[in-house]
Amino acid sequence: MTSRSLLRLALAGAVTSGAVMLATLPADASKAARTVPLRLLALNDFHGNLEPPTGSSGRMIDEHGHTVEAGGAAYIATHMKALADTNTIAVAQGDLIGATPLISAAYHDEPSIEFMDKLGLKVAAVGNHEFDEGYAELRRIMDGGCHPVDGCSPAGEWKGAKFDYVGANVLFKNPNEKTDALAALGAQQTQVKKLLSDWGVPALPPVSVKWMNGVPIGFIGLVTQTTPSIVTSEGIKDLKFVDEVKAANVASKILKLVGVEAQVVLVHEGDQVTAGQSPDACSAVPGLGNRIATQVDPEIDMVLSGHSHQAYLCKVKDPAGTDRLYSQGGSFGRVITQVDLNVDLRTQDIDRASVVADNHVVTRTVTPDTEISEFVKTWKDRVAPVANKAVGTITTDITNTAAPSGESALGNLIADGQLAATKTGGNAQIALMNPGGVRASLTYAGSPVGEGDGVVTYGEAFTVQPFNNLMQVVTLTGAQLKTLLEQQFTGGPNNQAFTKILQPSANFTYTYSQSAPWGSKVSDMKIDGVPVTDAQSIRVAANNFLVGGGDAFLAFRDGTDLWSGPLDIDAFVEQLGTNNPIAPPATNRITVVS
Ligand SMILES: [Zn+2]
Repeated sequence: MTSRSLLRLALAGAVTSGAVMLATLPADASKAARTVPLRLLALNDFHGNLEPPTGSSGRMIDEHGHTVEAGGAAYIATHMKALADTNTIAVAQGDLIGATPLISAAYHDEPSIEFMDKLGLKVAAVGNHEFDEGYAELRRIMDGGCHPVDGCSPAGEWKGAKFDYVGANVLFKNPNEKTDALAALGAQQTQVKKLLSDWGVPALPPVSVKWMNGVPIGFIGLVTQTTPSIVTSEGIKDLKFVDEVKAANVASKILKLVGVEAQVVLVHEGDQVTAGQSPDACSAVPGLGNRIATQVDPEIDMVLSGHSHQAYLCKVKDPAGTDRLYSQGGSFGRVITQVDLNVDLRTQDIDRASVVADNHVVTRTVTPDTEISEFVKTWKDRVAPVANKAVGTITTDITNTAAPSGESALGNLIADGQLAATKTGGNAQIALMNPGGVRASLTYAGSPVGEGDGVVTYGEAFTVQPFNNLMQVVTLTGAQLKTLLEQQFTGGPNNQAFTKILQPSANFTYTYSQSAPWGSKVSDMKIDGVPVTDAQSIRVAANNFLVGGGDAFLAFRDGTDLWSGPLDIDAFVEQLGTNNPIAPPATNRITVVS
């Protein structure tokens, strides 16, 4: 939190209490007069999508079951302005930055943070991606200053986020580390430090308190404790990410200690949903997010979540058996979660029965906000030279045109890069790339830099791999891998509409029969020339779209030991810079028989 919020907390705490407030009310005050309204507007997993996200990342199922185009900063701004009233606090559940498109990534995501400030965001939980460039860089984003290597952005010296980043379960490993995370607590800092003495040294402010209608509202930040396994270790080597529930309960005690009864958890962890459901449905399959939502202290009134990029509104039971909201709003700025509630002025606490939530799809049928449109255009113009940076060379066109086997040269090249990028860390043995995710071809002549010399620019690479998908690795058995490959073909139980041949890394070969019935088309799978057995465990790399069961590849969902690694674009750029100039890989990894 900033000093602003807690200073105000300290002052107000000295002059008011629930009892004082009650005594000032007339004896016959109506119930309405004893409560004040509060509206929360929440975003999660924005991932720097200042421009409207494209492809599947830019589509969302709305409340009527229709698939609509959604997201984009200027549209978010229009929707936020329409939804915000004088009782509104805007909050977020992490991954606002990291794994972002070039327009934001090229400037270490300062444009995305500035956009959040322009939206009026007040508090955000850190997500795992806030640590993508390390803890020191996150602190720079929070506190200001120019980037230590790349210097200031074209907008000048970075002033720091105006909103508060919070993360109660992020602690320093060293128990003697000096922390400034509690500085904003002012006079109450000593008491809080005592409370934390056998807990740990916070690396980030655990809570932020915002005032609305004379009542302090406490926000507790949490980030998935799996962060160390999905973030580059070097940047977080001094930190530990501890159990979210335990940390939330400690943070809740801190809030109690400073007199805050209305308590909201913003957590960057969530659950999967049943496909095709309304964003307002509770179709979340109980998992890591549900554990947190049901187990944190009953003092906590609601749990707004993120990380899994799903939309859901659930009512769960807290440990005392009382209903508690558990929500998430998709990703990439496609959904704003609105939570309306009343706060009881006597108890200063949230009236749980009054909580109403609604997931609004950020449609693009509204007029985009003028100021934000200009803001985005400015950054788009600035990034143009970055887009023109050379990242590799090719000998001739490398296209996404499918060969008879279904492979494309570019798809195979991408798969090879994905395997190379996930071997270390993810222990990947093979990689599979969805053909629909190869969005454009690389052409020898098409480069804007040195026309006709085979140079591939970053912008061209980004056009091929624009989704900022994460590379992931899961363990499948040989039998599950065969099922996955059968799911490439139409006629199976998951209604694959078209045959979609996954692009395999060079070391994975197999045969499929065009005439064999569905379920027995695939045979002769080999990894590095060695036949695959049904019982064998195989580490399979793919982007998070596929691993989540995208394109009806449901067998990926049976994968275990999920590991998340770099962005797919980063894996691709790395591959483009290797063994230059690159010739198109052969499309002979799959053998087709009639
Ligand atoms: Zn995340």
